Amino acid sequence: SVYDRTDDLERKINAYITLTKEKAMRQAEAVDAKIAAGEAIAPLSGIPVAVKDNICTKDVRTTCASKILHNFVPPYNATVMEKLEANQAVLLGKTNMDEFAMGSSTENSAYFVTKNPWNIERVTGGSSGGSAAVIAAGEAVCSLGSDTGGSIRQPAALCGVVGMKPTYGAVSRYGLVAFASSLDQIGPFTRDVADCAIMLNAICGYDPKDSTSAKVGVPDYTSFLINDVKGLKIGVPKEYMAEGIEPEVRKAIEAAIEKFIELGAEVEETVLPHTDYALPTYYIIAPAEASSNLARYDGVRYGHRTEEPENIVDMFMRTRSEGFGEEVKRRIMLGTYALSAGYYDAYYLKALKVRTLIMQDLERAFAKYDVLLSPTTPSVAFKMGEKIDSPIQMYLSDICTLSANLAGIPAMSLPAGFVGNLPVGMQLMGKPFDEGMLLRFAYTFE
Ligand code: GLN
Repeated sequence: SVYDRTDDLERKINAYITLTKEKAMRQAEAVDAKIAAGEAIAPLSGIPVAVKDNICTKDVRTTCASKILHNFVPPYNATVMEKLEANQAVLLGKTNMDEFAMGSSTENSAYFVTKNPWNIERVTGGSSGGSAAVIAAGEAVCSLGSDTGGSIRQPAALCGVVGMKPTYGAVSRYGLVAFASSLDQIGPFTRDVADCAIMLNAICGYDPKDSTSAKVGVPDYTSFLINDVKGLKIGVPKEYMAEGIEPEVRKAIEAAIEKFIELGAEVEETVLPHTDYALPTYYIIAPAEASSNLARYDGVRYGHRTEEPENIVDMFMRTRSEGFGEEVKRRIMLGTYALSAGYYDAYYLKALKVRTLIMQDLERAFAKYDVLLSPTTPSVAFKMGEKIDSPIQMYLSDICTLSANLAGIPAMSLPAGFVGNLPVGMQLMGKPFDEGMLLRFAYTFE
């Protein structure tokens, strides 16, 4: 079975927090029975899928790579899990991540660090590092991650696989453990673009259980897998090709641009003038929402509870200080500060206004271009430990991905060459609900 390979590779990669062997065997047998009975087969029938450990799986531990949820077994499935099951996919296990999806290297997991299959001294990126690594290492055929500021696209880039963050509202967030609710989206990791389309077909669609779910029709995403971008327009925002980008990464992206020109696309440099503000804006809004979303972990409702508390306040305090890791605490403090009376107008409200300016930059660009093309990350996979002591350095690895979340638009990362033996990712951003156009460009390029 797939697990023979996984058991062997896991000793080197450490991508899974929980393996769901028994459940997988049951699901696989059910698919076999269906085939034997001559019943209809779904597009994901029997396909082994891995799922990030912040997506609720009924009767399967869902930890968010946090000590505070080490014993949390959800009594229900996230909507995406229901959809995968309806598609007869087989759940292999739950993948490692940065605690509560806060990070860019999977080093913030409370359990262990996942290694990059291309070079095991390097990080996978994050926060969905486990879900990216299982695809790169061939430990699963497709996987799900979540992307709040780049957590699908950045690890996809560093692990050399395809990753898509759909439009905000395209995929239900019901059952995704909330980090920053106005930014979070679930999306797929796959080996290639065709598989990405198949996964989108399975997980997209309106869900009454998510109040931000969009009431829009779901196209057949495989219909966009056509080998043609002639006459289509690509904008290359110059702010995304600026100093912070490693020269070798820039070179790989320039080569990708040349290839698109050969394929008949029209390429122009463009500007997104408020790009510099994306990072500070994100690091006000995301922690603000996180500080509110994480208030529920109080030792009463879910997960960890401290031993022998003196009183209820002591119970809250000790439960939270024992349960949360350093980065999560940093975000809760930042967010609480930004939302406090007296600071709200100066920080949170200001950040919301700048968020609108960033959206308007993108709207203006999409009036002219079908897609925007950039690197996904400023560098290839970095060494473990290299950025862990400097939050700002770590935050900078998401400089190219944050704006898509702030604007709610779809964006994907696909492999675009190598620096040495480490993969480079190219990012394509698109108009809201125009995932099809991204797939078309990516498929033609691949
Ligand atoms: N790295 C970013 C952060 O730490 C984005 C994470 C994400 O997309 N979940 O917040």
